[in-house]
Amino acid sequence: SVIAEATTCATTRAPLSGLLPVVGADTQVPLLDGTSRTYANLDYAASAPALEAVAARVTEVLPLYASVHRGAGYLSQVSTALYEASRQTIARFVGAREDDVAIITRNTTDALNLLAGVVPVGADGTPGRVLVLDVEHHANLLPWGHGPDRASTVVPIADTVAETLDLLTRELAAQPHALVALTGASNVTGEALPLDEVVRVAHAAGARVVVDGAQLVPHRGFDLAATGADYVAFSGHKTYAPFGAGALVGRRDWLDAGEPYLAGGGAVRDVRADRTIWQPAPARHEAGSPNVVGAIALAEACEVLAALPAGALEAHESALRERLVEGLATLDGVRVVRIWPDSGEPVGVVTFTVGEHDPGLVAAYLAAEHGIGVRDGRFCAHPLLTRLGAADGAIRASVGVGTPSEAVDRLVAGVAAFLTEGP
Ligand code: PLP
Repeated sequence: SVIAEATTCATTRAPLSGLLPVVGADTQVPLLDGTSRTYANLDYAASAPALEAVAARVTEVLPLYASVHRGAGYLSQVSTALYEASRQTIARFVGAREDDVAIITRNTTDALNLLAGVVPVGADGTPGRVLVLDVEHHANLLPWGHGPDRASTVVPIADTVAETLDLLTRELAAQPHALVALTGASNVTGEALPLDEVVRVAHAAGARVVVDGAQLVPHRGFDLAATGADYVAFSGHKTYAPFGAGALVGRRDWLDAGEPYLAGGGAVRDVRADRTIWQPAPARHEAGSPNVVGAIALAEACEVLAALPAGALEAHESALRERLVEGLATLDGVRVVRIWPDSGEPVGVVTFTVGEHDPGLVAAYLAAEHGIGVRDGRFCAHPLLTRLGAADGAIRASVGVGTPSEAVDRLVAGVAAFLTEGP
């Protein structure tokens, strides 16, 4: 029956009416004064806690653990069926077209590096050029120009979304590009350029578009077919599943033609002394034993999120974000950073500075005195932090399905206490 369930891979779950429970929502953490308090987890943008449904699914499939694709035994067949069904679920979750391919990766970084390796060279043998804006996470900034056969154009953004779109259009007209690599939502401010516009502009110039969906996919969902984007990458550990599995989903041709991401078993059809015949994608890029349980866990998270009533997640997270921004606005010296004045509604990420105070000190105070978990630093987006006037770092709070409004209120109160009492 597990095989039957796996192979039908239907999304039949009933819509959920309330917020989804996450693992560890009531975890008690020690405070400096010797007491303890429920952890206020405001670090979903780094890694979101697993959904309880995901944890239950992992427990359920662990006894079925066996090598996929190669075993004739019952458990190998079950694992293979579950793994391949998970691939389909993950592809469907991001709106894959029928001929798109989904590759199970370790995470978004892995997925974008994989794609960087298959961008075709230009007709004259020059590297296929990739255009990125300077606001990207390092995972979507560094792979494109990294290595002798790769080239990237890093475009400094303009002051407004409209001007930035103009800049992008001009750069694409000035020089041929194979790909535009764009964040679906900034991990620093939650903002993004209008995707549909970028896809239109890029396609008109003959370039494809990959969306770094690490922050977008878990919080707003994403649809390749509807947006017309060519590829999307995202991470399981930010999508309410455990670490170790992510995905790259998109157009098959580059992935079938490019060099295998890793060389090894499973990626080859036939090996002789004088030649190797590689598999087409996805196997081509999944050499070695894959993360079967990770893929199943990620697929479960996708199914649960997909079954939420339309707009429920966005409404929940937007309300929390607004509450936090309003609360922080009442505090002297606290500055919430934004990239553009004319961007749309950000996802549930708020980055701020507290006067001239060291962000690391503020974050440590919030953790030790109030049991609040935020992130501090430069968020793997150094050029953006410099651009935002926070070259020495900032503090980031981020929310998701399991976040109660009480956690947001505690953060505002905690920052207020830092300002009055000091650390
Ligand atoms: N892109 C964005 C926008 C991110 O926020 C992150 C992680 O913070 C990444 C890429 C990299 O994700 P991972 O570390 O899961 O590869």
